[in-house]
Amino acid sequence: METHTLNERERRLEPLGKACQFCDLNRESESMSQNSFISVYKENKRLNLLVYRNVKFNEIKIGIPRCNYCSRTHGFAKIIGWISTIVAVLGTFFIPFYLAVKLDLLTIMMFVFMVLSFGAGVGLV
Ligand SMILES: [Zn+2]
Repeated sequence: METHTLNERERRLEPLGKACQFCDLNRESESMSQNSFISVYKENKRLNLLVYRNVKFNEIKIGIPRCNYCSRTHGFAKIIGWISTIVAVLGTFFIPFYLAVKLDLLTIMMFVFMVLSFGAGVGLV
């Protein structure tokens, strides 16, 4: 039973079914752009020398049917992920730098603040 067709122009396997595989709401994918495409790799050639290793592989994307609701949810989660990354970088590096300059602390104290804020960030995650 075939579940996917090969789209050679896009170099991907497109799903034939439309039932969303991410939720149990019995919704269907409305267009191919809503589907989630995951990369799958196949090892083509491996070279192992004493000090050098090289692996050549082929990549193809496999489509997973996804409804409009799940597509929007995943897109929103991706945006939230970028925003939280930016906030984490700001919190880890720029706020300790700002405090060190504002309070006229030594450079070593700035690094102590960075380590503390990094530790607090890791602790929150
Ligand atoms: Zn869904």
